[in-house]
Amino acid sequence: AIEMIGVSKWYGGFRALNDINLTVRGGERLVICGPSGSGKSTMIRCINRLEAHQQGRIVVGGVELTDDLKKVDEIRRDVGMVFQHFNLFPHLTVLENLTLAPIWVRRMPRKQAEQVAMHYLERVKIPEQAQKYPGQLSGGQQQRVAIARSLCMRPKTMLFDEPTSALDPEMVKEVLDTMVSLAEEGITMLCVTHEMGFARQVADQVIFMDRGEIVEISPPADFFSNPRHERSKLFLSQIL
Ligand code: ATP
Ligand code: MG
Repeated sequence: AIEMIGVSKWYGGFRALNDINLTVRGGERLVICGPSGSGKSTMIRCINRLEAHQQGRIVVGGVELTDDLKKVDEIRRDVGMVFQHFNLFPHLTVLENLTLAPIWVRRMPRKQAEQVAMHYLERVKIPEQAQKYPGQLSGGQQQRVAIARSLCMRPKTMLFDEPTSALDPEMVKEVLDTMVSLAEEGITMLCVTHEMGFARQVADQVIFMDRGEIVEISPPADFFSNPRHERSKLFLSQIL
């Protein structure tokens, strides 16, 4: 489980998160939406300490996030993250991108790391791209490589920050399909996305954020048909 208890975060004098309280149970799938600047990225980046919070507590799998780097590492072992821009290493092949961390961080023998990598490339349906460089792939393929690379570390939780918003429309579906199949396997997922079809299909809860606060948490059926807050209604009227 992931717990955020009274979490606030400031960038200088600006309060980006304001008293966030959230519990994510193992296997739960949450979609996070809200206007630009509402704190969505900040919130999920606090979960693996890409950003540090200043107030409140964040506990991931029973381990509390503090300045203790050992604990940060422990948590990052279980939490994978996929970004809008794929952040692949351009000078490494797809296969090398996938085996780098397992070999150097996990000390996995190369042969075994390559087997694991090929397993996940098959999962995301691009095993034939293993020897190419990221620059030779489409955006959708690169994003699927990024997802496979995270999965090679066998995370318990996956954080997604707008994984499809930099993609051409025809590539969005292939990445969403990959995410749907992950969701069906029971991995814990927190996804910042405005893909409301995806939210309807897989989310247990939709979180709507505005101005650094969680304004509403509702099952998708309720959120879309009967948003409880004016701010959620306004947001939905703008994106649907
Ligand atoms: P978007 O939909 O545009 O990605 P978001 O909901 O992910 O927005 P955040 O990126 O979490 O929003 O940003 C929340 C607020 O914090 C914004 O006002 C942003 O300008 C500010 N902010 C984010 N990162 C930093 C930073 N490194 N330094 C200063 N301010 C920041
Ligand atoms: Mg963001």
